[in-house]
Amino acid sequence: MSSSSKKAPTHSSVEAPRRLAYFDERRDDIVSTIRELVEIESPSDNKAAVDRIAEAVAHKFSQLGGEAHVHAAKDFGSHLQIDFDPARPVAKSAAKPVLLLGHYDTVYPLGTLATMPCRVVDNKLTGPGVLDMKSGIGLMLHALAALQEWHGGLPRPVTVLLVSDEEVGSESSRAITESLAKQAAAVLVLEPSNGLHGAVKTARKGVGDYLIRVTGRASHAGLDFQKGVNAILELAHQIEKISSFTDLKKGLTVNVGIVSGGSRTNVVPAEAAAHIDVRIARMKDAAGIDKKMRSLRPFNRKCKIEITGGINRPPMERTAGVAALYAQAVAIARELGWKLGEAAVGGGSDGNFTAGLGIPTLDGLGGVGDGAHATHEHILISELPRRAALIAGLIEAV
Ligand SMILES: [Zn+2]
Repeated sequence: MSSSSKKAPTHSSVEAPRRLAYFDERRDDIVSTIRELVEIESPSDNKAAVDRIAEAVAHKFSQLGGEAHVHAAKDFGSHLQIDFDPARPVAKSAAKPVLLLGHYDTVYPLGTLATMPCRVVDNKLTGPGVLDMKSGIGLMLHALAALQEWHGGLPRPVTVLLVSDEEVGSESSRAITESLAKQAAAVLVLEPSNGLHGAVKTARKGVGDYLIRVTGRASHAGLDFQKGVNAILELAHQIEKISSFTDLKKGLTVNVGIVSGGSRTNVVPAEAAAHIDVRIARMKDAAGIDKKMRSLRPFNRKCKIEITGGINRPPMERTAGVAALYAQAVAIARELGWKLGEAAVGGGSDGNFTAGLGIPTLDGLGGVGDGAHATHEHILISELPRRAALIAGLIEAV
């Protein structure tokens, strides 16, 4: 099919079924690649384990001819960048690389495989991180290998970035993600798709974390009650106020998720604290909610309050660039015979950073399944071929 695939659009209606058949034939190979990755456990907080999977993944991409560049991180596992040059000079419009973005850390501690083995059960492949997002990495590998076979090399430059700390906030990798995104034509994020029909994600909420600490004064609840200043009572008032910042019409939510305070029932508590999760749908709401959080003042002036934290992931908004990328994906999926849906979700990913820079970003291109971060995590095996074909088509088209 090389003659028809030299010029875009390459996903002609004749070619699409052939491409699907190509990946159908390789379905078991894709499953075994994913399985290999799932069986290397890689919890975010275990540097040695994450470094191990980084090495294994680097080896796989290097076998495809990519140039692996390890970004060593001090407190986290290594992040991995792999650059692929095109097989031949490309048109100016395709000269910028596509950035394939993802992570290989998982939320599961070492040893989870013992209770949550990676196995095939009917149409499902199970295991820790299989959906979020080791299937995404497997799909990258197979889509790139297919493009090389179809075109005798890649039709355009591609950069892969896999980070080690996405599940714990991407603090260590964020700068790398942003600098590579700035050089890219578009960012394809291979995080899990949304729902069992595999919708891609065209909007994600931004995320903020805040901590409020209240200091009062301790005293004996029986002997010296009036000398005490109850920090828990002050926090309770603050929680009511903070919760009132939620504005569902704007897609802005404020959740007080953890509270702590006090020492004994017979002591007026001197300390109390709350952890707060903030979600915003639009960047323009970030400054406002941040200001509200920072403007909190004690109800009881004998208390001291301290607010730390901030908005740490901007929202991924459905900009014109995102919508255009989605339209391309829909067109490719249509050729492949299915209707690709889209979803706006509350959770953040590294796609929030790249979209926040204004780089066209499409997220949720990875595995289709259910149970991310849960004991029933799995992907649907039957979805893998068309997913791989969609990703390959997008790499060519954007
Ligand atoms: Zn993920």
